[in-house]
Amino acid sequence: MIEKLVIANRGEIALRIQRACRELGIRTVAVHSEADRDLKHVRLADESVCIGPAASSGSYLQIPSIISAAEVTDAVAIHPGYGFLSENADFAERVEQSGFIFVGPKAETIRLMGDKITAIDAMREAGVPCVPGSDGPLGTDNKQTLRLAQKIGYPVIIKASGGGGGRGMRVVNSEATLLNAISLTKAEAAATFGNDTVYMEKYLQNPRHVEFQVLADTHGNAIYLGERDCSMQRRHQKVVEEAPAPGITEEQRSKLGEICAEACRKIGYRGAGTFEFLFEDGEFYFIEMNTRVQVEHPVTEMITGVDIVKAQLLIADGEKLAYTQDQISIRGHAIECRINAEDPKSFIPSPGMITHLHLPGGPGIRVDTHIYDGYRVPQYYDSMIGKLIAHGEDRGSAIARMRTALSEMVVDGISTNIALHREIMRDQAFIHGGTNIHYLEEKLGL
Ligand code: ADP
Repeated sequence: MIEKLVIANRGEIALRIQRACRELGIRTVAVHSEADRDLKHVRLADESVCIGPAASSGSYLQIPSIISAAEVTDAVAIHPGYGFLSENADFAERVEQSGFIFVGPKAETIRLMGDKITAIDAMREAGVPCVPGSDGPLGTDNKQTLRLAQKIGYPVIIKASGGGGGRGMRVVNSEATLLNAISLTKAEAAATFGNDTVYMEKYLQNPRHVEFQVLADTHGNAIYLGERDCSMQRRHQKVVEEAPAPGITEEQRSKLGEICAEACRKIGYRGAGTFEFLFEDGEFYFIEMNTRVQVEHPVTEMITGVDIVKAQLLIADGEKLAYTQDQISIRGHAIECRINAEDPKSFIPSPGMITHLHLPGGPGIRVDTHIYDGYRVPQYYDSMIGKLIAHGEDRGSAIARMRTALSEMVVDGISTNIALHREIMRDQAFIHGGTNIHYLEEKLGL
């Protein structure tokens, strides 16, 4: 087994990775910025190395500093978590070239999936359903572009191949604005992503976000762990996630799940991954693949009993998957609320000292968080301070447990979005299930 591992991340996911390592007897090295000396996992780590200043550009995004930390501590592997360098193909490559195990797919897979056009190409070839569109980059022939949009049907969306984080996209409602929108998106993409390649897709007007979790080992085995619904979003940021997705039938699940697992086998995928789809009128449309562990992985863990982070580590160690597909079954329903340090009305981040903390508990309740009484939430990073997860025998009891847990939860000293979650858990449309990706913003009047 891997003896020692560098956790190249911070916050709740760093602690989550550390816990999985502890269970497997792997020693951990916490690499952290100057602002993160007091992080819980840093205090609990076997070793810790300060890799730079508070700004993540000088620390959590510094490839040489992270690799040096692995070298000086004699670590064997590096886990990137999510965000930061987790989907940076150059990082994965440098890690492996330096002789360490990268807990994730091969660099070439990350590169393939990091470019939306090559990702869609590979997925279409593997039989994954995609959004009708240009099937490749838009060329310079305006007449042809106009014809293509006509054929796809308005509205269409122009997307930058190198885009990410919800940026580099423009919706076009009619022919009059198409060519101008393409020029604008190209110019923005060149400036933001250093790549002006854009493509066109049909714009789906009321989709839900439904994603499939997969695990693949280095022996050619791949399985799916069902799906999650992450439609409750604000500015393309997920706020509440749940598994399974309301209304998805066992037949739909096994059909698309098997297509995803087969796609993994075809591209030689390694590790945990997520296929993201838009779901509208009973049809799934692939939009992208995330080649890392996701924030919302716990809801899948709760309903399948599979420890996804442990699975990542075992796969990285070269082991075969511990489960075959027929050993995976879904038990009950799980919901996750992302707890953010932010004003519940304005959504402005609210860093500062946590003066009083009371975490909920009881049957089916899980809290993944690094915060503690007296912890100071730094201003430099993402505002998510933890995740509250409720599991119940069915969706109704998961919601009831979540409501109870939210009513118990106290985080004083900073503002949080707990009040917003209390409201969502009482919202009639959410309770009914199956709201689309615009629902939360409409409810908030945005
Ligand atoms: P990013 O990598 O920037 O997150 P995605 O391709 O995942 O980009 O798209 C982000 C979001 O943009 C989606 O979750 C969805 O809300 C919206 N979106 C993307 N493509 C379409 C489409 N064809 N139709 C409707 N909405 C879309």
